Amino acid sequence: MSELALASDASEPLSTPAHAAWTPSDAMDLYHVRRWGMSYFFVNDHGHVAVRPEGSERPAIDLMDVVNELRSEGLQTPFLLRFQDLLHTRVKRLNEAFRRAIEETGYRNVYQGVFPIKVNQLREVVEEILEAGQPYRYGLECGSKAELVATLPYLENEDMLLVCNGYKDAEMMRLLRAGQLLGKNVIPILERLEELDLLRDVANGRVAGDEADGPRPAAFGVRVKLATAGAGLWAESGGEGSKFGLSLAEIVQLAQTIRHSRSPLDFRLLHYHLGSQLSSVENVRLAALEAGRVYAWLIKQGFDVRYVDIGGGLGVTYEAGNADVRGGIDYTLGEFATAVVGAFKEVCDAEAVPHPVIVSESGRAVAAYHSVLIVEAIGRHEKGEAARQMPRPVPHPLVEAVDALATTRRKPSETAPYDAVDSNTDAVARINALRTDATDAFRDGHIPLETRAWIEGQLWDAQRALLADARAHGSIPPELATFERQSADQYLCDFSVFRSMVDHWALGQHFPIMPIHRLNQCPERRGVLVDLTCDSDGKVASFIAPDGRKHALELHTLRPNQPYFLGVFLMGAYQDIMGDMHNLFGRVAEAHVYLDEAEDDNFYVEQILPGQNIEEILASVQYFPYDLVRRMDKLVRREVKRGRIRAKEGVQLLGMYRSVFNAYTYVDVDAP
Ligand SMILES: *Cc1c(COP(=O)(O)O)cnc(C)c1O
Repeated sequence: MSELALASDASEPLSTPAHAAWTPSDAMDLYHVRRWGMSYFFVNDHGHVAVRPEGSERPAIDLMDVVNELRSEGLQTPFLLRFQDLLHTRVKRLNEAFRRAIEETGYRNVYQGVFPIKVNQLREVVEEILEAGQPYRYGLECGSKAELVATLPYLENEDMLLVCNGYKDAEMMRLLRAGQLLGKNVIPILERLEELDLLRDVANGRVAGDEADGPRPAAFGVRVKLATAGAGLWAESGGEGSKFGLSLAEIVQLAQTIRHSRSPLDFRLLHYHLGSQLSSVENVRLAALEAGRVYAWLIKQGFDVRYVDIGGGLGVTYEAGNADVRGGIDYTLGEFATAVVGAFKEVCDAEAVPHPVIVSESGRAVAAYHSVLIVEAIGRHEKGEAARQMPRPVPHPLVEAVDALATTRRKPSETAPYDAVDSNTDAVARINALRTDATDAFRDGHIPLETRAWIEGQLWDAQRALLADARAHGSIPPELATFERQSADQYLCDFSVFRSMVDHWALGQHFPIMPIHRLNQCPERRGVLVDLTCDSDGKVASFIAPDGRKHALELHTLRPNQPYFLGVFLMGAYQDIMGDMHNLFGRVAEAHVYLDEAEDDNFYVEQILPGQNIEEILASVQYFPYDLVRRMDKLVRREVKRGRIRAKEGVQLLGMYRSVFNAYTYVDVDAP
């Protein structure tokens, strides 16, 4: 049995293997920036994260320059930075990827995408995407009545598509029809057979308020349930078990109904959607082949279907590793486009039917990159830190056992070949046993509180030493995973996971997280992030790593009076709108940043949207200042009357209470 593998200096903080000279490039490696950051994010010579919103050939913006400017204007963290040009770049790259695939495969039609606004409905985001998409006739997708109301007026030309998914009622169908009568390319997608009746009603002009209908046929699309299911975190949205779409039998039935119907209908689009963040490009190809057969069948049935819409699902690399990691993807944008275009060409050629216009509803891949959440770490808690200050307790067998733990540890100079499994397992067992014994002894009154506290500190140090030793020999073996998790520092950050990173909480989706400055120094600590909510789930304790996950993130120590900022990246898709109000933390402030070489730091801030204040968030749950202040006033008066506080104090107290209605819902670190 080998000795306990404890490193010699137990009090040393957990350090990554010491580099002679730590460079920004080392930071890029440590946080896997080359992988998830694509050509957009990198660490510059100042040790700051910087972004190239227009790709690697174009100028960069230093995130710390932006953060400093916003703070000088009084904006408090957390806030969201939106790099609007990055939206432009993504729309362009998506469209160019399909163009290239079409050219290379000899496909005889075009790609015409739509942006599903549920991914990010913010007007400025949608307008930016539409502007970027103009040369490509890029359109929109909506999935609810409110989204339809928001998108319809944006159909500026007659080519761009508005695809409408989701369950529809008569009012919604009427509005869609109104768009068509205005000459727009509006396509309601039938999700269920019953929606055909609503469609026929508007086509025949029988729905009240729509009497003036001419014979112009009502265009529509149909969503088909394919057998090919997506894979990944959102796989359930596709496949035969999905909530939406018509089965093949229902499609046959629909085709018959329409053929015998005298309503002026125009079956224009075939739609399917496999789910979001599809992990496998092979699945994407198989689904396109399957859908291609359905399309060919419809053409042969005499329907003039012009578009095949592959839905969303084009993924984003959030991960440090490959597709085996939950949430990972195994393709590039170009490979995705080639798989889709190639599959449709193959089927259509085999079936001798014309090549349809290819539509995709890629949301995540367009929007994810453009926004970065900036949070400040406002405190660091180290396990056992206070216990380290405890003086040596009075003798006791348990104290001696803890001492023995330290004296039997192996000195690095005299190491036998490292035997990770044996020595670690042994050490873990001994540390755990001592902890249990100390707890029992304290509970039973056999050791005083001071002794128990001292032992606790020693055990934390022993745990850390074990980890440091393992790390020095490579990586953390599985038997030390629990210790790794337990030993990490807690960094308190001024944000809410529920508000700003809801998919992390709900689905275990991982976002790249790293400090945005001090990256020309090797981070000395490892930590997990805990948020402001009073909820044990309000934390990030799992991070991207090449071989799966790691339970702590490399971070720097906090310095007094120097803020420490972390960036959460690729936040542009879904998080803003799905975040919730847990503990009444409100919408965060945001700044819209544009690249501009004419400016000193290559950027200007076009717009700052303030975050929700306390008055606004309280109103959403029916508390209003007038009533609250009145109640508070009553409480104060009563105490003044009783003589507990003086009248002047009462006035001050009430004034202070009132002033907080204007405050940001997050922690104000700089408050006097
Ligand atoms: C959510 C959704 C999308 C967007 O998916 P992404 O993975 O973000 O590209 C597209 N189409 C439909 C029908 C959807 O429900």
